[in-house]
Amino acid sequence: MRIFEEMESEVRGYVRSFPAIFHVARGSEMFDEHGKRYIDFFAGAGTLNYGHNNPLLTDAMIQYLQEGGIVHGLDKATVAKRAFLTKLRDTILAPRNLQYKVQFTGPTGTNAVETALKLARMIKRRSNIISFTNGYHGLTLGALAVTGNYDYKDESYGSRSNVAFMPYDGYLGEDVNTIDYLRLFLEDGSSGIDLPAAIIVETVQGEGGINVASIEWLKALETLCREFDILLIIDDIQVGNGRTGTFFSFERAGIYPDMVTLSKSIGGGLPMALLLMRPELDQWQPGEHTGTFRGNNLAFIAATQALSYWDNDDLAQAVKYKGDLLRKELERIAAKFPELGASVRGLGMVQGLVLPQTGVAGETSAEAFTRGLVIETAGANDHVLKFLPSLLIEEDLLHEGLEIVEQSLAVLVE
Ligand code: PMP
Repeated sequence: MRIFEEMESEVRGYVRSFPAIFHVARGSEMFDEHGKRYIDFFAGAGTLNYGHNNPLLTDAMIQYLQEGGIVHGLDKATVAKRAFLTKLRDTILAPRNLQYKVQFTGPTGTNAVETALKLARMIKRRSNIISFTNGYHGLTLGALAVTGNYDYKDESYGSRSNVAFMPYDGYLGEDVNTIDYLRLFLEDGSSGIDLPAAIIVETVQGEGGINVASIEWLKALETLCREFDILLIIDDIQVGNGRTGTFFSFERAGIYPDMVTLSKSIGGGLPMALLLMRPELDQWQPGEHTGTFRGNNLAFIAATQALSYWDNDDLAQAVKYKGDLLRKELERIAAKFPELGASVRGLGMVQGLVLPQTGVAGETSAEAFTRGLVIETAGANDHVLKFLPSLLIEEDLLHEGLEIVEQSLAVLVE
């Protein structure tokens, strides 16, 4: 690991939490340079919904490269981009009755978030944005401002300006409807809140600790946005792409957001991010929000193949089946160690094992790593063990990984 310590910035994080030098991977398994195998329950923080090096995707990419396909083309029209747009329209948007235009942003999730915030402000001519407690939208300055964890912020970033935070569903306890609270703030001139251009929200908070918003809450949020002429931005970067059992995480609530940010698994593991916006919101002038990497054609090739998993219902059903299995097993494990006071929350194949005692989730992750499992923590206090495997994970690997978690917890309570 010496070269990493010598050359790479101190900012690196996963080098420290997962101290191995990884080399090859396939599906839900990773191997370090000595051939030690790890089961991957982290899946690139939700980027590998279709697994590592999925042959359907890699074969298409290899073929494209062998044919001399254009890899970098700025945002020029290409055959690869055409195929992706056609697939997105025909396989994802049209069957769901969703009409969106697509804006390719820079390649990371934050780029899509920045784009959404800028466009909303430009359209509404208002600067305030509302975000929620425990929300995570990225760490560049605009996205950081709507990220609800002060550990990432410093006063000097100006990251408190033009953003108001409101309590997410459940934040004030089960009995408090936080949308009523938000309505009161917007109606009452004494609340001091500026009418926002947009509200940005995750339907299931990933980094924030696997907090699931209820269907009623999401519907009420949409109604409120319509009433007050506020744009609704769903950040589906982590829990979109099928993670919760439907392609878009908001489908379960039957809502129709004004904008949707997508990244991570949309590129099938390659860097790619985009903003979906209702057609009337595409008020950009040509060249008004550009950048160099807005069309990774290799990612378009992978992404088009990845979307073919949505040609039928099989993947959605597999997510339901494996999500239920994961949930049940986690509930069994939580009950096995009553001294830990653990509980389970999540939706589909994003589940969290809440371990309220300080440090336990992190120690479990570290112990599990020595036993060959990559699993990360989430939540403001890192108290949630986050289960985010590939949607295609084989059932036996899912069980094997869960067994490692169980063994690791057993070691900790000894
Ligand atoms: N939004 C959400 C919901 C995320 O989970 C993340 C990344 N964890 C981001 C935005 C930022 O994406 P990126 O790290 O690719 O910039």
